[in-house]
This record gives sequence, C-alpha cells and structure tokens, in this order.
Amino acid sequence: MSTARVPFVCGNWKLHHGVAATRAQITELVAGLGALGGAVDVAVAPVATCLSVAVDAAQGRLPIAAQNVHFAEKGAFTGEWSVAHLAELGVRYVIVGHSERRAMFGDDDAAVAKKTRAALDGGLLPIACVGETLAEREGGATKAVVGKQVEAILAVVKPDEAVRLTLAYEPVWAIGTGKNATPEQAQDVHAFIRGLLHKHLGEKAAVVRVQYGGSVKPDNAAQLMAQPDVDGALVGGASLEAKSLLAIAAACRR
Ligand code: PEP
Repeated sequence: MSTARVPFVCGNWKLHHGVAATRAQITELVAGLGALGGAVDVAVAPVATCLSVAVDAAQGRLPIAAQNVHFAEKGAFTGEWSVAHLAELGVRYVIVGHSERRAMFGDDDAAVAKKTRAALDGGLLPIACVGETLAEREGGATKAVVGKQVEAILAVVKPDEAVRLTLAYEPVWAIGTGKNATPEQAQDVHAFIRGLLHKHLGEKAAVVRVQYGGSVKPDNAAQLMAQPDVDGALVGGASLEAKSLLAIAAACRR
C-alpha cells in the first residue's frame, strides 16, 4: 500500500547556489522542517563543492544528497569522486542516472547500475532516475524505455536492500520545461514501475519510494501526490528557494 510509505521530496540544485547561498537556503530549510511534523522526508542535493558546507549547515536535521558519483572506489578518473568521498563528508543520498547525466555525460544504463551498486555497497542511499524523451513518448515507447532503465537498476539491487532504494520517474520532456505530466500520466508510469519493483524484489518492493520529477511546483504537487503510486517528488527549479521546496513538501504530506 502506498500509504505505508512516507513521502520523500528531494531538491536538486543542479549547477546553482554557491557556498553562501547553500548555507542560507539550508538554514532556512532546517528552520521550516518542524512545521512538516515528520510527515514527509526532505533532502537537498547541492553542487558537489558545497556538500561539506551543506552537511555542516544541516546540523544533522536535513539529509544531504549528491547529484552524482563515480562507481569506482579510486583510480585514474580525473574530476570524479567516489561513494567513500561522499560518505566521509556525511552525505546520505546520491542521485544517479539523472536525465541530464544520461544525455550530456554518457551515463548509460550500465553506468547507472554500477553507480547504484556502488552507492549501496558504500552505505549511501541511491535515488535512481528513469524517464523517456518526448520522441519516445510520442512514439509509444514510454514503457519499453522506462522498463529497460528500471530493470537495469533492479538487476543490481537485492530484496533486502529495497528499503535503501528510491526511484525517480522523470519524463525528460517535463524537466525544466514547465510542462509536467498530468497526474494520470504520472500514475500510469508509476504503477508500471511498481509492478516491476514487485517482480524483482517481491514483497520487499512495498517500501521502495517512487518520486515523480518534472516541473513540480507548490501549486501542482498535491495533485500529483494524490495518485496512489506517487511517493514524493524530485524537484529542480522550484527547489532553489527554501520556501518553495518547503511548500512542495507540505503539499506532499499524505
Ligand atoms: C530535475 O532536475 O530533476 C527536475 C525535475 O527539474 P525541474 O523540477 O526543474 O523540472
């Protein structure tokens, strides 16, 4: 039952907010969390160079997520960082397979699976993203595409690890465009993903949260969350201001 899952909202700050803004926004977020009454989990993913400041400003009250990680433990990978590097900073979650990483940085299904596995092995909680492009949706390939992406991720997750996994369904055509999926479109794909979760993880699948992402805002979050298989949101643009992310989180309470 979806109602057993505590909704989870994560802000993805992408390439925004330097040190000062990270500290200020996180301080404001932490101050606003109490009003949510623990009915929704909230996290935020700052720029990598601000993660340490973010963890410090969060004072253990707001989990911090990284936007990416390399799957290797160490080696000749200039410009990258590992799960262990994130863990030693106190980072809790890591987003893997965001569509911008898939489209611009070569993160294919195999790499996303390796990153998911590395995160689980290193004690981080992966938020693994999937989603179809507009051409794929218009070509009737949404479920084939999303199904392949989800299966690649679930192939490396054991049923006992289900509680540590979050999936995010983010139709690429809805990210940063202002065009969000209708609640019915989101529910249709979320129900499909939940079926795949059940197939791979059995009854343990019930604890996996599936966020929706794509132009979620304070005024559309509640409609999306009213769908039985939508368990929260991964939020880009509307997460940059603490007030807006807190309003979305408030709208996501069940
Ligand atoms: C995202 O980057 O994951 C995202 C959903 O962005 P936006 O909310 O801006 O569409």
